Amino acid sequence: MKAEALLNNIEQMNKILSENACLLYGAGRNAKAIVSYASKENYSIDGILVSEMYGNPCDIMGVPVCRMQEYKKNISDKVLIVSVREALHREIEEEITSLILKDVFFVTDKLLSKIIYKTADYELDSLEQLGRIERKLEEHENRMLRFVPKPCLEYMVLNILDHCNLRCKGCDHFACVADPYLVPYETIHRDLDRLSEIFHGDYIMQIAVMGGEPLLHPDLLKILADVRKHFPHTIIRLTTNGLLLLNQNDEFWRACRENNVTIVNTKYPINLKFDKMKEKADEESVKFQFFEGTGDHLIKKSFKKIINLKGNSNPTESFAKCHISNYGNFLMEGKFYGCPFSCQSYRIFNKKFDQNLRMTENDFLDIYKVKDMKEFFEFAARPKYYCRYCTGLSPLFDWTRSKKEISEWIDEEE
Ligand code: SF4
Ligand code: SF4
Repeated sequence: MKAEALLNNIEQMNKILSENACLLYGAGRNAKAIVSYASKENYSIDGILVSEMYGNPCDIMGVPVCRMQEYKKNISDKVLIVSVREALHREIEEEITSLILKDVFFVTDKLLSKIIYKTADYELDSLEQLGRIERKLEEHENRMLRFVPKPCLEYMVLNILDHCNLRCKGCDHFACVADPYLVPYETIHRDLDRLSEIFHGDYIMQIAVMGGEPLLHPDLLKILADVRKHFPHTIIRLTTNGLLLLNQNDEFWRACRENNVTIVNTKYPINLKFDKMKEKADEESVKFQFFEGTGDHLIKKSFKKIINLKGNSNPTESFAKCHISNYGNFLMEGKFYGCPFSCQSYRIFNKKFDQNLRMTENDFLDIYKVKDMKEFFEFAARPKYYCRYCTGLSPLFDWTRSKKEISEWIDEEE
């Protein structure tokens, strides 16, 4: 982004609005604030462009909203003001390359904050205060979004086994205290058949094949081929701690390549040849990535869900604050859960520590009883009975092995 393309202060904005015929890009809260600001200051905006994915464009305060394709024509006399957040500027820059415009300006987050609050009836002392209020609003919006069914499943864990050859204290799948258990291949095959029938082999963006440590499953290669056969367009992630990765034979690498599987490795601070893993995957033309955020350095700061053994947290509040609600879905033996935590703490934590966290029929879907995918989307966006056992995340802590003590999961002062 060229510095001169950034719109950083009100004076610049006024000059552009007063000297040009202007279009806006984006029809969200920011765009509404800019339209409202322009109208208060007697400037006009000719139109608002939105992405082709945008549903039902309708006017904002009398300014027409149009999809991009309707503007794939010469509009060289107009200046485009991009009203989306800075984090999306790059993406939008690419999206608008086909437009022929007089000029394009990207509004900075700082200026957006100013405009939003210039158009609202707040008395504010400082920009810092504006920022704080805006962060609160964003947090609120994010929480509200947890309750909105999505048009697809963004992410689903396919749990193929419980146990692991590492024993991380921060394991939210409870693999560090699990008895050895492999989900039989036949069960996985049948579940994938059923899921693919319901989702028409689509509508799940990512399937993460994991456990436990998936490389310990003797039928892993058949499972990978099955996932691909049933979901031809889905991103398949094989999430591994990497301990066994460099011992894999040609057949393993071929299966990953042919089924377009991405190996995802978390860099735990243990003595492993992470560079060699990456090199080997490149040599084999297999997609490989380090787990998000662990690319350049050894982790780890870990964190985990803290369990409220009394089960008296407010489930709706826990769900709203949860970092994986309406996202981190989990499939295990014909049952679809909203998260790994509920299924695995119920099965593994209860048994290991002789606890009685209760699960109800509200906490999972039996995939053989569900009518259509809409039920999954609605289920994913609904707080579960089990959310009463969550109190939030622990503070970050250095990666270490679990001592298999219950105190690792509970807040003893509660
Ligand atoms: S490597 Fe993963 S599955 Fe294994 S104990 Fe650690 S966090 Fe759990
Ligand atoms: S039980 Fe509810 S709050 Fe807890 S991790 Fe799962 S979805 Fe989140």
